Amino acid sequence: MNDPEISIYLHIPFCQRKCLYCDFCSDVASSEDTFFYYTNALLKEIASKKELFEGRKLSSIYIGGGTPSVMPSHALGNIMDAISAVIDIDDDTEITMEVNPGTVNELKLKDYVAFGINRVSMGVQSMIEDELFALGRIHTADDVKKSFDMLYWSGIDNISMDIMTSIPHQTVESLMKTIDEIDILHPKHISAYALSIEKGTPFYEKYLYGTLQLPSEEESYAIYKTAQAYLDQKGYKRYEISNYALEVTYAPRDYRCRHNLRYWDRKDYVGLGVSAASKVGDHRFTNTRDLYSYASDPGNIRIEDYELKKTDAMAEFMFLGLRKTEGIRLLDFRDCFDTPIEEVYGKVMKNHVDHKLAVMSGDDEERRFMLTEQGMDVANYVMCDYMF
Ligand code: SF4
Repeated sequence: MNDPEISIYLHIPFCQRKCLYCDFCSDVASSEDTFFYYTNALLKEIASKKELFEGRKLSSIYIGGGTPSVMPSHALGNIMDAISAVIDIDDDTEITMEVNPGTVNELKLKDYVAFGINRVSMGVQSMIEDELFALGRIHTADDVKKSFDMLYWSGIDNISMDIMTSIPHQTVESLMKTIDEIDILHPKHISAYALSIEKGTPFYEKYLYGTLQLPSEEESYAIYKTAQAYLDQKGYKRYEISNYALEVTYAPRDYRCRHNLRYWDRKDYVGLGVSAASKVGDHRFTNTRDLYSYASDPGNIRIEDYELKKTDAMAEFMFLGLRKTEGIRLLDFRDCFDTPIEEVYGKVMKNHVDHKLAVMSGDDEERRFMLTEQGMDVANYVMCDYMF
């Protein structure tokens, strides 16, 4: 399927301090020079990928990290200029930037607005001080409120907030308090991810030695279910396993993240920067995770480069599409692979429907297949059934 549009993911691998649970490709920048060298490498990479953008419309840009808001604004401005030299950025392009509370000020925000940033994703995680401290976050709940106000008054009102479940010291009550506090701010979107313990992090060490005080499995499940129900009660409609968009009746607008929807719909995107991955049709390529290699030889940065096999593409269609509460449209599978979905997955789908993990809905051209709430609860296991 040829996609007339394309998206860009831009990775900024710098943070003010490393959080105790984080295994993302990010580190503390050793000096101002690091930003300078990284920006130069990015500019070269953007120019070298010019042909990937030809004849396409830019749907979205997502500036993630790391903490992109620690980057000097002028460097970010140079990067945005380099992007607009290879593809038009128009008023309709969704441009999201990840921002951590306490890392923005009015001057920076003025610049972001001038660069066209129209959506911000804020890494809140919790509004409980003990929980923030346990995660090794640099901010306080008060920083969240101040940064939110600054963003809002700068003109960026499409704000998403990330919260985390299953974190040390968390209870159902503390999670509800976090949701209550952020609901007062009224962000347009909330993502709720469960903490996962990753190898190589301080949390992993603590976990091995039994000194990490995590909620029990039962408590974690209760927290996860409470997050769903309480966010729904506050008007946030779940549209993906971990993502919720505010439903506004007085001025309806779609606050789902367009950029992420394009991932789940297997649309094309180009990843720029260290560790960034790209998908162009069935062609996949990923940049090195090593900052030094990336910056010193931007012409030779791919660590992965392959064409996705048809069977893998089919599996991907299923496990990405089924992340969305609206599931997949059966006809889209046939349009994509020239094969009716029933021929490939008929048995598995029936089995999931029989076990109330999924349902069919709609008629004819609009017939869809989607996971039930029960199916979403065990999505990792359900998705394995679609692998070959
Ligand atoms: S701010 Fe985000 S990217 Fe940076 S260390 Fe913390 S979790 Fe990782």
